[in-house]
Amino acid sequence: MSNKRQPLRPKPGESVRLADYDPGYTGDYRAKKDALEDLERNRAKLGELQEVLYAGHKHALLIILQALDAGGKDGTIRHVMHGINPQGVQVTSFKVPTAEELAHDFLWRVHQRTPPLGMIGIFNRSHYEDVLVVRVEELVPPAVWEARYDHINAFEHLLTDSGVTLVKFFLHISKAEQKERFEERLTKPSKHWKFSRDDLKMRNKWDRYMAAYEDALNLCNTPWAPWHIVPADKKWYRNLVISQVLVETLEKLDLRYPEPEPGLETIVIPD
Ligand code: ADP
Repeated sequence: MSNKRQPLRPKPGESVRLADYDPGYTGDYRAKKDALEDLERNRAKLGELQEVLYAGHKHALLIILQALDAGGKDGTIRHVMHGINPQGVQVTSFKVPTAEELAHDFLWRVHQRTPPLGMIGIFNRSHYEDVLVVRVEELVPPAVWEARYDHINAFEHLLTDSGVTLVKFFLHISKAEQKERFEERLTKPSKHWKFSRDDLKMRNKWDRYMAAYEDALNLCNTPWAPWHIVPADKKWYRNLVISQVLVETLEKLDLRYPEPEPGLETIVIPD
């Protein structure tokens, strides 16, 4: 695919076809070494912005990471969040729901993990699994998952109305890149633990997962909770793009330290 300019953020209402998005796209950058300086700067900036977010206690940020297996969710968290104070971040990895979770509505477990004001929440998988794996693996009837797009949009609106800014990232890798990453998991002892035979079953349903992703990207790309389609074959470009979006998102919030107590200048600390 050519390196013609590729939008990161499809406009709400615009119809997304993933086949039009090149997972290997790297924008104006040619190689990893060209991106390192910008990534480093973004990381440092993120650390500073997070401190004000935490101190100001007026906003929260919720980062949603969705991808197919080996799409790079773990690596993104490790690399992009590098300079962030762990005290201000809450990471939640959503797994197969427990019996208790399944006895509730699908958003019950998710809502409990949304970040309080001052915090950054990271969802490694999310409520989108309930219209992705659940749909493709036919875990509930179509009428149930079909109704969920509206529920998700309303839920995300509630969050934004309550001071939570949402940024949603779909890490888009190619089928060839997934193959390479799976092969590395088979050959590299330190990566064996990441391999599961079930991942191959999902790989066999690649087209159905793509179709489910397209619907989630189209039906839940709202002005209040936009999707970003991140070209993710090149890990360095993925990290750069995500760090850039996070910096821009936090900068738009116009974060401030809280007003100091009056009269601080008159206080003398006793010996
Ligand atoms: P990961 O692949 O995220 O590193 P795991 O290997 O433990 O972590 O996989 C978690 C699994 O849980 C995935 O296969 C995912 O599809 C599944 N899962 C997450 N949420 C749901 C859900 N709501 N319903 C069914 N399966 C889910």
